[in-house]
Amino acid sequence: MADCQETLNELESYLDSELSEGRANEIITHLKGCTDCQGAYEFHADLRTAIKTKAKNEELPDGFLDRLRDCLGDDVLGAE
Ligand SMILES: [Zn+2]
Repeated sequence: MADCQETLNELESYLDSELSEGRANEIITHLKGCTDCQGAYEFHADLRTAIKTKAKNEELPDGFLDRLRDCLGDDVLGAE
């Protein structure tokens, strides 16, 4: 069973589908029971959506950037 540290370490690999099935299942099981890691997972997943959407020059969903700014702070994203 993966703990928080392991789960956070593997989040990127999990999102890239680079983990073995057994390892991925451990991460999923942990995420289901841990709201902290769930939040981190959702944040990483959202970030990927934002990057992909930007790369394709599509409109981001309403309020998405505000949410991201709330998480990252204005300094990271800058004024666009
Ligand atoms: Zn956790």
